[in-house]
Amino acid sequence: MKNPNFTLTRRQFCQVSVGAFASTFFWGCQDIKSVSSDNEANKITVFHNGIVLPVDDNFSEHQAFAIKDNKILAVGSNQRILSQAGSDAKVIDLKGRTVLPGFIEPHIHFALMAFTGNWLDIGPLKYGTTASALAALKKIASEGPHDEWIVARQFDPSLQAGPEMLTTSELDAISNTRPVFVLNASGHLAYVNSKLLKIAGISRDTPDPPGAEYFRFADGTPNGAMTQKAYFPILLSNEKLMNTFNEGAVESGIQVGDEASSLGITTICDMATGGGSGYEEINNYRQMFITGKMKSRIRAYLYSEVADMWDKSGVKYGEGDEKVRVSGWKVVFDGSNQGRTGRQREPYLNSNNLGVFYVQPEELKQIIIQRSQKGWPLALHGNGDAAIDSILDGVEAASKEGVDVKKLRCRIEHCSILHDDQIERMAKLGVVPSFLINHVYYWGKAMRDDIFGPEKAQLLDRCASVEKAGLKWSMHSDAPVSPMGTLHKIRVAVARDLWREPGSILAPQEKVSVEAAIRAVTINAAWQCHSENEIGSLETDKLADFVILDNDPRHVEPSSISDIKISETWMDGRQVFRS
Ligand SMILES: [Zn+2]
Repeated sequence: MKNPNFTLTRRQFCQVSVGAFASTFFWGCQDIKSVSSDNEANKITVFHNGIVLPVDDNFSEHQAFAIKDNKILAVGSNQRILSQAGSDAKVIDLKGRTVLPGFIEPHIHFALMAFTGNWLDIGPLKYGTTASALAALKKIASEGPHDEWIVARQFDPSLQAGPEMLTTSELDAISNTRPVFVLNASGHLAYVNSKLLKIAGISRDTPDPPGAEYFRFADGTPNGAMTQKAYFPILLSNEKLMNTFNEGAVESGIQVGDEASSLGITTICDMATGGGSGYEEINNYRQMFITGKMKSRIRAYLYSEVADMWDKSGVKYGEGDEKVRVSGWKVVFDGSNQGRTGRQREPYLNSNNLGVFYVQPEELKQIIIQRSQKGWPLALHGNGDAAIDSILDGVEAASKEGVDVKKLRCRIEHCSILHDDQIERMAKLGVVPSFLINHVYYWGKAMRDDIFGPEKAQLLDRCASVEKAGLKWSMHSDAPVSPMGTLHKIRVAVARDLWREPGSILAPQEKVSVEAAIRAVTINAAWQCHSENEIGSLETDKLADFVILDNDPRHVEPSSISDIKISETWMDGRQVFRS
């Protein structure tokens, strides 16, 4: 399907030839401005009297470290670091606080977070039932001009008591004169009212778009619910909404960076760059740093759905610098398990639904071969076990074609349901998982009771098994699908407790140590995005990205790890957040 986004208005500075953009136009950027102004460049700063965990091979523990400008100088004892730094050094007393490398969030949807940031949140963290969520939506329906869309996000019927999906029956009751658009928390589904179906020209005679579905009533009339590739053009057709977003994209992106730094995150991987505003998204990322206000590095994975646009731009893997870099190629292959659109070997519980392939397996195989031959590290979204089978088939086929696939460090995004045979294949091919670990905490009960049954739910997010197999696994939030907080991810990997059933644990055999969970959000995540030589651990000559915590996650109750306070965040040798 053609993505219509290239017709969108771009700001003046982007009116450069695509070729010029792709070579050097915006690379090279200014340093980020510090929250505190007293940190002088080129001066050594020593942090001492702390618990300094550089996350090196031995997970060693130290008292102090020193930075110079934007780099780590040394890590060691109070005495050694203070004496080596000399009397000129600025000295900061950590007062027993814990220091870790800046957290890396290996998979979010940057543009979507920025785009939907001010939509009404009607999700399960705010409303326990569909009825209460709809009541909140009804309240805003009377506000605003009659032709303005009513937009909401985070709706999740797998966690909110009520019907399995929203249809025109519910949404026409919100408004039958204004368009209503509700985004499912997974981002894989949306629900619209009859007014919006009419505007979009979708009727009983409209066939499903390729790789997408309009859900229908028994008589064949679209019921308003639809999958990603079906709702995407509807969203993009709202010029007013898109223009407002494009004009404010840099500012709202900086706000995403603010949120990240307040959570100790110093690097974000954007997992579908170009899907909303085409190549302007990368220009925006650069612009965020040029303002001096951006507080989190960005690693961009280009969205395969707009492959033609990227090919025409001439963008190459690795382009950019340590602040913003083009780091890989992203393909979305199936849906989400909580939306029952992840593609399974066996049907979902009490149904004959196997889920969906957004891209047919043979096509996926060709994408994997072609992109890997061009040297692109691949991030391949696979939630269901059948999707993961096909991804591994594709990587294996690329290997047979002579591609050194291990070198590419191909990732399976979410990699939610994983069998032993698949872990073996991953180890052989050098394919690594990035888990959406909040699947366990927020959706674990639903996965066990409603979606898969207790046996298959044991295969969800198998952190300990992949650790044992030697895979460098990571954890992500998939924000806005789940909240970005990294300490919470560590807590879930260690405790595997359930939001909706306090006291219960899902698949306790997959619990990991605090140290392993910390690696997953620091050095492993850096390795996955080919940035381990510059970030992910506190070692000499690496970039001075670190987080200072009020407490040591190794020495609190697992379920309290997420309550530890982020005291300060430093990125590029500058303090960018303090509580
Ligand atoms: Zn995602």
